[in-house]
Amino acid sequence: MHAHRLTTRVAALVAAFVLLFALSTPRPARAAGKIQIMTATSDLAALAQEVGGDKVDVESIARGYQDPHFVDAKPSFLLKLKRADLLIVVGLELEIGWLPPLITQSTNPKIQVGGPGYFDASRFAHILEIPSGQVTRAEGDVHPLGNPHYWLDPENGLRIAKGIADKLSEMRPADSAYFAQRYADFEKRLKDADQKWLAEMASYKDRKIVTYHRSWPNFADHFHLNVVGYVEPRPGIPPSPQHTVELIQQMKRDNVKVIVVEPYFDLKTPTAIARETSGQVLVLPPSVGGEKEITDYFKLFDYDINKLKQALDSTK
Ligand SMILES: [Zn+2]
Repeated sequence: MHAHRLTTRVAALVAAFVLLFALSTPRPARAAGKIQIMTATSDLAALAQEVGGDKVDVESIARGYQDPHFVDAKPSFLLKLKRADLLIVVGLELEIGWLPPLITQSTNPKIQVGGPGYFDASRFAHILEIPSGQVTRAEGDVHPLGNPHYWLDPENGLRIAKGIADKLSEMRPADSAYFAQRYADFEKRLKDADQKWLAEMASYKDRKIVTYHRSWPNFADHFHLNVVGYVEPRPGIPPSPQHTVELIQQMKRDNVKVIVVEPYFDLKTPTAIARETSGQVLVLPPSVGGEKEITDYFKLFDYDINKLKQALDSTK
């Protein structure tokens, strides 16, 4: 009995010591919390996740199957924006119709435009179709500052990821080696993947296609496709009968057979155009999450290139 009581007392002493030790161990400063990142779109979330790893929590407001120009953002995002350390946006006025009120209502000083946690990814990307002269949203054109669909070029993906990695390092200097390593790893994997994608697309060089919206100039540039027309008369303007007739004439003249349509547009006009031109409608998601299997930035290109090749092969 005596021995047992002693054992119990020793055990209690050990437990007390362990507790005391645990309490007195200094915690690394602010290392516990993950950086809370909100992004406007799923592609930016995918890139932030690549470089942020397990040091960040990332969530996108827009879903990959939604038109990023016109997002019906749920009020539940307000709470998340209130807590965000970093807000990453596409910029170039892509989100002008839905994001500014959310930013204001969040009352989070960090993520207000110009705040330390407001990150405009377009500043890091190569931007196409920048209008010369007067900047305007005349006639409802939703691309007044240049084309905002710039993430569809892997080289821009790299540039944006580098910008995010540097920003995260600035916010958490103690983890800067981690973010630099994550970026280096992403760069290697993406460059390898891009070599494969370019090789797959090489035999389709300069093939002509038509797209519904101007979502693909960066993609077409990088993979050497030739976008010769659009179902929309101008970005954001629905098809008109006159424009559709002209597009059909042009497609017949240039022997264009593939009409790429983003998943959130009505298929009625594209289907009619395809019927008139013996062409094919190809629904192609421009964003991560546009299809269930497109779960990251790599799978976006895997999926789209695979679908494009099929369509270009079957309409040769
Ligand atoms: Zn657009």
